[in-house]
Amino acid sequence: MDTEPAASAVLEIDLAAIAANWRALRARHAGAVGAVVKADGYGLGAATTAPALHAAGCRHFFTAHLAEAIALRPLLPGAMIAALNGPLPGEEEAYRAHDIHPVLGSLGQVAAWSGFAARRGRRLPVLLHVDTGMSRLGLGPDELATLAAEPARLDGLDLRYVMTHLAAAERPQAESNARQLARFRAACAALPAAPTSLANSSALFLGPGYGSDLARPGAALWGINPTPGRANPMRPGLRLSVRVLQVRAIAAGEGVGYNASFTAARPSRIATVAWGYADGFHRAFSNRARAFFDGEPLRLVGTVSMDLATFDATDHPLLGPGDWLELVGPHQSADELAGQAGLSPYELLTSLGRRAARRVRGAE
Ligand SMILES: *Cc1c(COP(=O)(O)O)cnc(C)c1O
Repeated sequence: MDTEPAASAVLEIDLAAIAANWRALRARHAGAVGAVVKADGYGLGAATTAPALHAAGCRHFFTAHLAEAIALRPLLPGAMIAALNGPLPGEEEAYRAHDIHPVLGSLGQVAAWSGFAARRGRRLPVLLHVDTGMSRLGLGPDELATLAAEPARLDGLDLRYVMTHLAAAERPQAESNARQLARFRAACAALPAAPTSLANSSALFLGPGYGSDLARPGAALWGINPTPGRANPMRPGLRLSVRVLQVRAIAAGEGVGYNASFTAARPSRIATVAWGYADGFHRAFSNRARAFFDGEPLRLVGTVSMDLATFDATDHPLLGPGDWLELVGPHQSADELAGQAGLSPYELLTSLGRRAARRVRGAE
């Protein structure tokens, strides 16, 4: 890594890998493949990653919040942008003004939008979210039955997609997958005919039965393994390196960090890096994380501080101030690092703070 003055942590984002991941997912799916870029593109930066995906050919984008969708609108000409969280009362005009598709998930939302369409005197594009087992967002069984019996409730609405979300797609053996699929098929059969949207990243690896007109992967685009426990089919979309501030020699019996949660059993060299829980390196990593220097592992020792963490560099006599430790890179994936703290890789990425210098490597 080149030395960058003023940077003591660097997050590298590889747009070529992210675009390649999208193309690889598209090649697996008979229907279209969109991109979920909620939470600022899972922490990697929606304003850079979404346009790179658009340039690769992606034309369907999903955020969680309306505000996230509005921010992306000028960057994604001609593309559909939908906000998964669903509209709040009174947001109709903002959705329309910014050309954002609402994801309607209750009869109340359907009524509000149908009324809005009637007042405007035109049909409005919407997605309809059906709850098949998450119990989170979307029309439940009773609401679905009502809508199926009274399709006039959809008057004025251009049903672009009927969608649902799987609760356990990353576990192929989970019986909820087939149950949700059956409920989704039944829901689509009961509703007016419309295109469908089903798979997230992992569901793209569950088999062709989980195909739909529009898949909605997020995590796999960034290189998170959509098939946990099996080889990762995706390319890593990020690297994370942190810089050594000081290396100190301590005697056997000395404590390291707050409350001395680690005590040196031997005379040790402790490397202090500029990366702490304010950067998303949660205290759960204390005494558990691993980093790499020159391809060789170091153990995190002691409790992670707000801005600092400490590694046992006793077996790395060449390590000194200014050197870089790899947290995510060729020797350690984001999935592996997250697992060391019992986190999901989704949490690791979305926790990344704003202090790391971001280096974006361009698309191919
Ligand atoms: C987050 C989300 C996705 C994307 O899931 P990944 O596991 O990141 O691929 C798709 N659909 C919905 C409704 C979501 O909330």
